[in-house]
This record gives sequence, structure tokens and C-alpha cells, in this order.
Amino acid sequence: MVESVFMLHTLVAQLILQERNIAYVVTNRALILQQVGGKLDWLEDDGKKLAAGLSLFEVSPELIGCEEELQALLSGALPSFQLQWVNRENRNGELFYVTLNNYAYKANTGDVKGILHMVEDVTSAGEANQRLTQQRNEMILLHQQLKGANLKLEAANAELRALDELKSKFVSIAAHELRTPLASILGYVDFMLNDPLTALHPDHQTGVDIIGKSTKRLLAITNNLLDVTRIEAGRVELTLESLDLTNLIEEVALHLHPEIEQKQHTFRIEKQPDLPRALCDETRTAQIFGNLLSNAIKYTPAQGQITVNLHHSSQEGMIIAAVTDNGIGIPAKDLQNIGKNFFRASNVHLSRTSGTGLGLGITRSLVELQGGRMWIDSTPGVGSTFSLTFPVDDGLFAHHSQ
Ligand code: ADP
Repeated sequence: MVESVFMLHTLVAQLILQERNIAYVVTNRALILQQVGGKLDWLEDDGKKLAAGLSLFEVSPELIGCEEELQALLSGALPSFQLQWVNRENRNGELFYVTLNNYAYKANTGDVKGILHMVEDVTSAGEANQRLTQQRNEMILLHQQLKGANLKLEAANAELRALDELKSKFVSIAAHELRTPLASILGYVDFMLNDPLTALHPDHQTGVDIIGKSTKRLLAITNNLLDVTRIEAGRVELTLESLDLTNLIEEVALHLHPEIEQKQHTFRIEKQPDLPRALCDETRTAQIFGNLLSNAIKYTPAQGQITVNLHHSSQEGMIIAAVTDNGIGIPAKDLQNIGKNFFRASNVHLSRTSGTGLGLGITRSLVELQGGRMWIDSTPGVGSTFSLTFPVDDGLFAHHSQ
């Protein structure tokens, strides 16, 4: 029984040695090989035959330099030591990895008789380890490169932000400085055209009339530029109040009456009965409808139809105002860009009008600042509908602000 257990152990040990490519040698105290075993063929690949009589340093030259540890094994001070991932070359010049395990080899008496030296082939694990190290190094490198790129990007961003601020400041100052002289030109034009005491020569009257119209256009552009910088900087102040949108739109339309007349458009407001009042800023809402209605007039050929329809939204607490025209419409490919600063649609030449492409962006921002949203449905050659939502005045706001 004892013998069979011993044989079983030997068998298991042999199987492990064969399976894992492990060769072993046993030396005497002078480090000369006494016995060799385990799997030897892979180690002997480079022509060196492992046999009794060889020195341990001939089997594993990597142990040169480890004399102290070997002495410690022999003196019993150290039970074992290991050298890991030692790389060697076979006779074909291929790299392989071994791990060298060294144990004190003891007699039954407990005296150290020599050294048990095991050489294990760990090439596949070694390669995986090397691949991992390489991948880790590459990752570190990539990380460093990314960090560098990020720093550059941050610097570029800061520069861009500074430039953007400079641009906004420049536009804002220029527009402010332009407004005062433009307003005084308009004042004098008005005075010259309407003073009964100094009637102008008809030729001059036409000229002054043109000056007046051009100045008004310049003033509108200047105001738009100022609005864009205000919106970008988040500096739009709103005074919310309870408003009857129908009245407000009628008033805006009254101002635009000359243009509507001139193009012989029909204009009407349709209103759902019992429509509640809206909660919004009067000046800014008048500006919103001023922009949408003047666009509808501009981009609709003569004798067109412009309608504003006011009704409840399916979204609770909101009113929809839809401004519809049967004008030139907007090509589908341009719809996503409408409202971006300075963008004008590709069919804008059909309307033979000038413009800056600033109005709709401002309009959308003002609607959103008041808690609503804007969307566009349009078919080229058929017409467009600009729909906006406004919050209903539920009375709570006025109650709170009292
Ligand atoms: P502008 O009218 O000064 O060009 P807007 O920002 O008001 O600038 O409008 C942007 C563009 O949207 C216009 O240039 C035009 O191409 C298009 N657009 C706006 N309103 C209409 C409309 N009612 N019908 C057709 N196109 C429109």
C-alpha cells in the first residue's frame, strides 16, 4: 500500500513535469550535477546534454551572480529562491522564457546535501506577459499623447473663447456707437419730411425719403446685432406680464400695414374662442411677431395670403401662434440651418429682398427665453408656417409678484 502511494506520487510528478515542460537536476554541495530528470528534450534543443558531472552554472548560467543565495541554500539559511522570466535563445535564434526554481536538497537527516534546481518553460506565459507589458506601455504612451493633445485643445479653446468675446465686444460697441447718430439722422429726416413750413422740392423729397428708409434698415440691422450679442451673453431681460396675443399681433400688423398694402396681401388673424391670455414680455413678443410677419410679407409674392392662427396647444398650459404664408417656402435641405446667424435659404433670390439672416435666430431665442419653442413647416412654392408656443397666464405669476 505504502509502495503504491509512493508510485502514484512519482507518476503524478512525472506527468506534471512532462506536461509543464519542467527539467530538474540535483547537485552535490560543490554544485556538480548528480542526477537529472523530468522533461529534458526542450532544454537540450541547443545541443547541450544534461548529465551528471556538469556544473550547475553550465545548466543555468543565469545563476552566476547568485552565489550568495546558493550558499544560503547550502547552509540551510534559505529554503528556496526563484529567478523569473529568464529569457534564452534556442539554436534557431528563437527566444524562450524559463523560470528557475532552486531548493535546498536535504537528506533524511535534515542535512543539506546539495541543490534541487528546476527549469520550467514559461514561454507562452512569458510571451503573454511581454505582450501585456507592451500593451500597457503603448497605453501609457497613448494616454500621454492624449493628455498633450487635450492641453493643446484647451489652449486653443481658451484662445477661441477670448477671440469670440472680443468679437462680441467689438460688435456690441460698434452697434451702440452707431445707434445714436442713426437715431438723430432719422429725427432730422422726419423733421424735413413733415415740417409744413419748409416744404421740400419734390426731387429732394424722394431723396430724403430714401435716406429715411435706408437709415431705418441700418438701425434695424444694428439692433439685431446688439440682440445677438445680448442673447449670446445671456443678457436679455424680460418683463413678463399678462398679454392678449391677438391685440398685440393686431398692433404689430398695423405698423406693417404700408408693406402689406404695397404687396396687396390679405392678412387675417384666426383665434380659437376662449383663448387665455399669455404670460410674456410685451416688447420682445412684439419683436417676435414683427420679425415673422415682415418675413411673411417679404417672402410672399404680391397678392399673397398671410394668416396668424392662435389656438390651444396639446401641451398643457401653452398657446400656439402659427404664422402661415403662401410664399416661396424654404427648401428642405435648408430647414435645419434656418435660425443660424447670417443664414439665408438658397431660394432667397426669388424674393428679390435684402436681409442679414439674423432675425429668425433672435426670434427663436426670444421664444425659448419665454419658455416656448419654435418650429417650421415649409414647402417650396407652396408656403411656410412658423409655429410658436407661449405659456398661458394662469394668474399665479401676477399673484406672486404682487
Ligand atoms: P433675413 O430675412 O434678414 O434674411 P431671417 O433670419 O429673418 O433673415 O430669415 C432667415 C432666412 O429664412 C431668410 O433669408 C429666408 O431665406 C428664410 N425665410 C424666413 N422667413 C421665411 C418665409 N416666411 N418664407 C420663406 N423663407 C423664409
